[in-house]
Amino acid sequence: MNCELILQLPAPVASLLARLNGAGFSAYVVGGCVRDTLLGLQPHDWDICTSALPEQMQQVFHDLHTVETGLKHGTLTVVVDHVPYEVTTFRVDGDYTDHRHPDSVHFVDNLTEDLARRDFTVNAMAYSPETGLADPFHGRQDLSANLIRCVGEAEKRFDEDALRILRALRFAAVYDFAIEPSTSAALRKMAPDLSRVAGERIREELLKLLCGKAAGRILRDYPEVLAEIIPEIRPMIGYDQQNHHHSYDLWEHTVRGVEGVPADPVLRLTMLLHDTGKPAARTTDEKGEGHYKGHPKISEQIARKTADVLHLDNAFRDRLCNLVLHHDIPLRTDSGAINTDRSFLLRRLNRFGEQDLRAIFLIHRSDRIATGYTTAKREDARLQERMAALDALLAEQPCFTLKNLAVNGRDLLAAGLKGKAVGEALQLLLEAVMDGKVPNEKAALLDALPSLM
Ligand code: ATP
Ligand code: MG
Repeated sequence: MNCELILQLPAPVASLLARLNGAGFSAYVVGGCVRDTLLGLQPHDWDICTSALPEQMQQVFHDLHTVETGLKHGTLTVVVDHVPYEVTTFRVDGDYTDHRHPDSVHFVDNLTEDLARRDFTVNAMAYSPETGLADPFHGRQDLSANLIRCVGEAEKRFDEDALRILRALRFAAVYDFAIEPSTSAALRKMAPDLSRVAGERIREELLKLLCGKAAGRILRDYPEVLAEIIPEIRPMIGYDQQNHHHSYDLWEHTVRGVEGVPADPVLRLTMLLHDTGKPAARTTDEKGEGHYKGHPKISEQIARKTADVLHLDNAFRDRLCNLVLHHDIPLRTDSGAINTDRSFLLRRLNRFGEQDLRAIFLIHRSDRIATGYTTAKREDARLQERMAALDALLAEQPCFTLKNLAVNGRDLLAAGLKGKAVGEALQLLLEAVMDGKVPNEKAALLDALPSLM
């Protein structure tokens, strides 16, 4: 135990520990919150482990709001000031015959045994104000050395729960840590076991990985591991695009594309998948140049399949598929100038909405920089010009949806239109408004109607 180190605990956490101690139990904060505090980061949740058994925890916290969802595994959630804290009895996991969950858990009275079941040394530290830092696996040393290392024998730990393979990559990407060589070798070897892990567990880790500050380095170093989750990545590795617009191979282009968008899960996953359809779409002309016509459609199908694998919710899936499908829609005029004209932007807003149109601007910038044939400076200037034009346009609160059109279906029925013609007329009127041909006023629109039909 290291009694010199003092970690600052939030008052409710300190009081939960003190209550358990007062009732004769040992209790510590443990795992991610200790790691993050030592890194000088704000933990997003505080987990507690204790020698108290579930019934004993319930007695100790009888006057507080508690939730029993994990009680079988020894976890009681205690809510203080609307913040939930997970309090878990020291435990060891039984065998992992399905490589996903332990067949059983056994409660133990020993902190070190509880820490030994944890995945990485940096996640296997506990702290209490009474006894200081408990660090039997030298996590603090690995934290200082920026290293992810398994607790115990790496291959065995990945065999028990293959999700740890992806968690190792996730922590390395988020903290920009290296992966200790034997841990790294074991995770490469055990990567095929990822196919047995539930999609929703993969999703959480993969999205955090993609949003990590060192995501690019991890994608570059471990593409085969990612290909166990998204098999369409495999042909991209080292794939020569043989196209004069691209100076990098397909995987390197993809990695740069991911690095070049903000750390948002939808944007990062869009860039990971945007060109997955290229190998299947490839044609080669007589000069040996590769062409990829129609690849966004194939990438979109792969995005749909990936959304199923990861159990993405519908809103995420719809945005992802839409952005992948439209990642390379033209944003320039036929003469090649940046297109910021009003009617062009309004039509794009109508089709994509503000959020996705801004996303498409960001995707374009990154996709272009990732070709290696333009500079970030040039693309930043283009992006700024597009965003500024959009800001100025939106400030006028222009009409670009049927909802905001100054006439509706009832007005057109009253004007004598019937059936299908109503919908068609509304669409024509909206287009005329977006093109600046007719003001968005009821009388003007009804006047213009005959000339449009
Ligand atoms: P985050 O900051 O993302 O919450 P975390 O380290 O707290 O990171 P959690 O998934 O919240 O990660 O898990 C809490 C702790 O439980 C971890 O720090 C680790 O000690 C342990 N743990 C979580 N998942 C596993 C696993 N699959 N195998 C072994 N130990 C695990
Ligand atoms: Mg956590």
